Amino acid sequence: MKYFSTRGDNENLTSSNAIIKGLATDGGLFVPSYIPAIDLNFIESLVDLSYRERAKKILPLFLTDFTKEEIDFCVDNAYTEEKFDDNAICPIKKLNDETYILELWHGPTSAFKDMALQILPHFIKTSLKKQNSKEKLLILVATSGDTGKAALEGFKNVEDIFIQVFYPTDGVSNIQKLQMITQEGENVSVIGILGNFDDAQQGLKKIFNDEPFKNELKKENITLSSANSINWGRLLPQIIYYFSAYTDLLKTKEIKLGEKISFNVPTGNFGNILAGYYAKKLGLPINKLYCSSNSNNVLTEFINTGIYNRNRDFHKTISPSMDILISSNLERLLYHLTEDTTLVKSYMETLNKKGKYKINDEILTLLKETFKASSASDMETKETIKEVFEKFSYLMDTHTAVAYNVNKKLSKDKEKVVILSTASPYKFTNSVLDALDIDCIDASDFVMLEKLHEISQLDIPKGLKNLDGKNKIYNTICKKDDIINEVKKNIEEKSI
Ligand SMILES: *Cc1c(COP(=O)(O)O)cnc(C)c1O
Repeated sequence: MKYFSTRGDNENLTSSNAIIKGLATDGGLFVPSYIPAIDLNFIESLVDLSYRERAKKILPLFLTDFTKEEIDFCVDNAYTEEKFDDNAICPIKKLNDETYILELWHGPTSAFKDMALQILPHFIKTSLKKQNSKEKLLILVATSGDTGKAALEGFKNVEDIFIQVFYPTDGVSNIQKLQMITQEGENVSVIGILGNFDDAQQGLKKIFNDEPFKNELKKENITLSSANSINWGRLLPQIIYYFSAYTDLLKTKEIKLGEKISFNVPTGNFGNILAGYYAKKLGLPINKLYCSSNSNNVLTEFINTGIYNRNRDFHKTISPSMDILISSNLERLLYHLTEDTTLVKSYMETLNKKGKYKINDEILTLLKETFKASSASDMETKETIKEVFEKFSYLMDTHTAVAYNVNKKLSKDKEKVVILSTASPYKFTNSVLDALDIDCIDASDFVMLEKLHEISQLDIPKGLKNLDGKNKIYNTICKKDDIINEVKKNIEEKSI
């Protein structure tokens, strides 16, 4: 299997090359040259396997240049019982006969980003080794809160790889910020930017496309790469849990082999839900993919009208990891719907120039066959957290609650839907307590963690409980136009 750019550059890379490179030379994203087909026997064969064993059967479909031993090594070092606090890795909980919650936040940073970012460093390390490369990698990350920490945890102290994270100073929760600025590891750097996630992401994209700068770095043997979901190695591991959720439901006889179910995904950069689309293309019996947004509802409008328009107010919401107006991975979906790189390229150029584009009716019809979208306000999100807790004694975080709320708006009666739960409620303690009408203005984050524990009886995740005593190491804040200077400074300081 080869990988090429959504914008037409036919680089024909192997998966290991595409993973090291991150973004294609023409600014497009790497897509696989074909999508293999699996059948129901394949799905049935996963039923009695562990998450790790399931991963080992799915990843080779796309990593065709990796040996079995290499894939086994990556999987066995990523999804360990030491790093995940649930042996199932991502357990599925039943709320009622049609609603299931897939908990994707049992990894070290309590957000679903761990599902991919625990394995991505192993993919990259293995890929470098395969190429006999002497390169040093500098991974640049833009984060809306969760990717940053998950990437730092995944890459910390990995030899010959350095990581620098940019987060919106005022755009993440307290806990998220603390998680990042207390990060240990010799090879890491964390910087706040005066701007939002889109500014950070655009700033980094500019650097990735800055050929003179990259050539300068080449002379020093430094290659830039990305751990955002624009990297294929980040997207791919997310396909596994769609299969795993389906087979878990088969195993507990909630569904029959071949029965179609839907998934509802709280969406920001469109990475998570796109992995669901790949699962469907592979042959997993999926009916609909529900795309849930907060009041930054650019995707809701797009899926309903075919018009993508980022020219709108940016809202800071209580589900900050979804405060995004430019959903990068949509580009991959457009490619798979049209298989027309010239057209995709023209849409992306129009987006760059005018901040909006409109897809033609034919593509919109195709899109709507699988995707449906709606959004939830902060008020609705809070009401949902309370309602679900009172009704099912199940406590969800703000992002998951957006999806639950949208699910009530969109799903059909008796339709079986798996809602992807993307963060532990402890990560957004403040908003969750507020939703439960518990007053804790002025309380410290750690008092709030305890309070939430009292109410929910859920264990406080290890990584959050011990934040209190950690040193705040990273206090740099920069303007959004200064990102490149911070990158240069980092290269010097760390003698990369
Ligand atoms: C990143 C994130 C999302 C959005 O996921 P995408 O893949 O960017 O669409 C949703 N919820 C949480 C908690 C996240 O961290």
